[in-house]
Amino acid sequence: MTDAQPTSDTPNWRIAIVGSGPSAFYAVQELFKQDSWPLRVDMFERLPTPYGLVRGGVAPDHQKIKSVTKIYERIASNECFRFFGNVEFGQDVSREDLLDHYDAVLYAVGSSSDRQLGVPGEDASGVHSATEFVGWYNGHPDYRHLQFDLSAKSVVIIGMGNVAIDVARILAHRMQEIEVTDIADHALKNLAESQIEDIYLIARRGPVQAAFTPVEARELLEMPEADALANPEELQLDEGSQQELEAAGRETRQNLKILNKMAERGITGKPKCLRFVFLASPTEVLSEGGKVTGLKLERNALEQRNGKLSATGIGETFTLDCGLVFRSIGYKGLPQPGLPYDSKSGTIPNQKGQVCNPETGEACLREYVAGWIKRGPSGVIGTNKPDAVESVRTMLQTFLAEKWQPKEAVGVSGIEVLLESQQVDYVSFADWERLDEHEIREGQEFGKPRRKVIDPEEMLRIIRSG
Ligand code: NAP
Repeated sequence: MTDAQPTSDTPNWRIAIVGSGPSAFYAVQELFKQDSWPLRVDMFERLPTPYGLVRGGVAPDHQKIKSVTKIYERIASNECFRFFGNVEFGQDVSREDLLDHYDAVLYAVGSSSDRQLGVPGEDASGVHSATEFVGWYNGHPDYRHLQFDLSAKSVVIIGMGNVAIDVARILAHRMQEIEVTDIADHALKNLAESQIEDIYLIARRGPVQAAFTPVEARELLEMPEADALANPEELQLDEGSQQELEAAGRETRQNLKILNKMAERGITGKPKCLRFVFLASPTEVLSEGGKVTGLKLERNALEQRNGKLSATGIGETFTLDCGLVFRSIGYKGLPQPGLPYDSKSGTIPNQKGQVCNPETGEACLREYVAGWIKRGPSGVIGTNKPDAVESVRTMLQTFLAEKWQPKEAVGVSGIEVLLESQQVDYVSFADWERLDEHEIREGQEFGKPRRKVIDPEEMLRIIRSG
């Protein structure tokens, strides 16, 4: 059952959105701002739950960030909006189906994969992507069966972006900080038994080039159970970094201040230690019996290459003993069935949000992208707003330029008929709200904002049981 049942026979522009994360919702918001356009929007999501990385990516101890879903709930309450959850693009509904039923399709499918290090030994047991760990502790159904051996004393995280900081913080927290969050039950249980004491964060370049933001770094100064440490020698800037710092924005200077504070403060005797290591790249994962035992690294210097300061190995190596390695070197978008794809950037080639075929240069006039699958995995949640607005404007300008009229042939119930004929057990926004209420109610018993259901079958059972 869908929520809104349109009654008018007047032709409306019908837009399909694939994905239900921030960029998808900001696109819907922008579409509904167009008072002069009669629009109906249907959103398709693979999982029975909406909100993409806000539910499956934002760290559980960052509940304030998650409150952005209140805005998405308001957007979804528009009577011309429908949510079709538990519908997989490319499986339950094809590109052709959507193009048949809608005037335009906007893909906001994000970047669900990750990048590899490409060093020997990377396939050893105990080497994971941050994507997997984040999905696991956030109760994302795809990652619920994974196991992480937290019995090691030392863990190394490769990469120095906000995801690396999230992973480090979750590993460094006391139970008191995370048991009151919506972290998945299985993760809470495992973390309670964690033996981890030393957490290394490795950056291939220097502190000026670190990708994290000051708000996230500052939190590490306040951790009750972990000292955050930076090596003063590694905070000495070479000439290139000094120039970059002078030209950089406020955030980079704040990062440097925070790192210097960590270096000055040193060890204060807390049980865990979070160590920032700059100018080092992994060269080999060491293992015994197939299980990671350490990481071999090479020290780097920075040199100008293609207009930016890049890391170059200087031949000096060192080893860190560890029982767990996370690579946190960026997400990557996956190819979508039937759509052009740029394998280097992991994005769908586009011009201002309009999909285009890079080989022929031809624009796909009725197809659009927004969010990470459009621009790559960068920016914070708010970055998706102007990004989605640009795509929607390109879409509407194309409608005007091409003097198109809305498709009249397919009624609003056409897509439901199609899904039902294929026995797709789709869920509406009202269905999701039922599950949402259930999770919140379950969480209240334990003093948490919610207790996530992690198995899609169970989600459907709860929804269908009313
Ligand atoms: P990111 O910000 O792009 O950081 C990736 C890190 O990996 C960089 O330090 C990068 O270093 C390093 N790296 C890349 N390739 C490498 C390689 N081959 N070897 C070693 N290091 C390598 O990516 P992210 O941390 O996955 O975050 C994705 C986006 O989500 C970011 O925009 C982030 O701000 C956002 N996010 C925000 C929050 C928040 O607001 N709280 C939380 C999580 C994520 P180089 O610079 O040298 O390439």
